[in-house]
Amino acid sequence: MHMQKAYRFRLYPTDGEMQQMIRIIGCCRFTYNRLLEYCSKSYKRRGESHTSFDLNNFICHTLKKAYPWLSDAPAQTLQCVSADLSAAFKAFFRKDASYPKYKSRRRSKKSFRIPQRGKVDTEGNRIYVQGVGWVNAVIHRTPIGKPKNITVTVNPSGTAYASCLFDDATDAPVPSVPDNPKVVGVDLNLDRLAVCSDGSDYENPRTLKQYEKKLKHLQRMLSKKKKGSDNWMKLKREVSSLYEKIADIRNDAIHKMTKRIVCDSQADAIVAEGLNVSGMMRNDKLSKHIQDASFHEIRRQIEYKCLWYGKALVIADRFYASSRICSACGWHNDGLTLRDREWECPVCHTKHDRDRNAALNLGSFGLKALARDAGEVKPPEKPSVDESRVCTCIRSMVSVNEEKEPGCTRGSP
Ligand SMILES: [Zn+2]
Repeated sequence: MHMQKAYRFRLYPTDGEMQQMIRIIGCCRFTYNRLLEYCSKSYKRRGESHTSFDLNNFICHTLKKAYPWLSDAPAQTLQCVSADLSAAFKAFFRKDASYPKYKSRRRSKKSFRIPQRGKVDTEGNRIYVQGVGWVNAVIHRTPIGKPKNITVTVNPSGTAYASCLFDDATDAPVPSVPDNPKVVGVDLNLDRLAVCSDGSDYENPRTLKQYEKKLKHLQRMLSKKKKGSDNWMKLKREVSSLYEKIADIRNDAIHKMTKRIVCDSQADAIVAEGLNVSGMMRNDKLSKHIQDASFHEIRRQIEYKCLWYGKALVIADRFYASSRICSACGWHNDGLTLRDREWECPVCHTKHDRDRNAALNLGSFGLKALARDAGEVKPPEKPSVDESRVCTCIRSMVSVNEEKEPGCTRGSP
């Protein structure tokens, strides 16, 4: 499997180019919704959906005839739409996702994809977007390899980005875990970004709190304005761009952190917890949303960076009670609540920082899982760790979705 990397560049389209991009996005959304309608009918009738081949035929022979303006969008871009929808149905039939939903004009992510024909002109600082033409961009780094596809996204604040996927034609390094591996357990965290078993901490960037406070304030103001009025629109745009700024800061911090954890720590294996650890996120909606998103993003980045750098990855089951176990003696602290940031083990009197303790437990969990994988099945020690529930262990992880675009923009499904 070749390594694919996505590079995200800011686009600076002219007004005309922006209009054309928005038109293409509109065509894609319209096509998606009509295709979904078409699929839903056959799903109701026969309990099955259509292949993307069928859907492409439907686009060519039915939709484009009824709605000639769909030709504003490149044919291949519309084919990506049918590929996306049939993937969504496949996920639904596999029970990995709920039934595909219609895309609303307001809420859905505004993006479209162009397979193959993308060009990035590093010297001229421009990107060729099929259906639009050469669009000015800031090419802040030189992509390596052959271009695969380009995804253009227009954010609610009106900024545009191109995420360009490149295939560098080299294979991912095969992870080799030595007998005495260095393992780093990573505890993802509410207040801090992450705490690691090797002693490193990663804090949220300080600017983040300020901006989040400001965002809350603006949102409160927005809720008092009359919906749809000029002032509302203006404020809405301000909220969107602040929101994007926060996401950028967070993303940047996460990228730097995951690189350090996976690559710079010189670990042989990384141990992370399964997601949805999160009866804990009793926060208000906004920060919960951000938190959820960044947990997923951290995990996603750790996964693909392990793949890039040839590190093994162990995922502990999400029911593994990493924070409740005393990392020194294995005693189970069932009375631990979310408020307890620090506690002392009554058996061995070790003082624990909650997060560090969890990271240490994940680390030793990883060591055990790796040893078992290597064929030296050790008998489970005293069942302080409930082994039956514990382990979905994935060794570095070629099952990280091959279709997924690593490093690409936020929220790719
Ligand atoms: Zn203890």
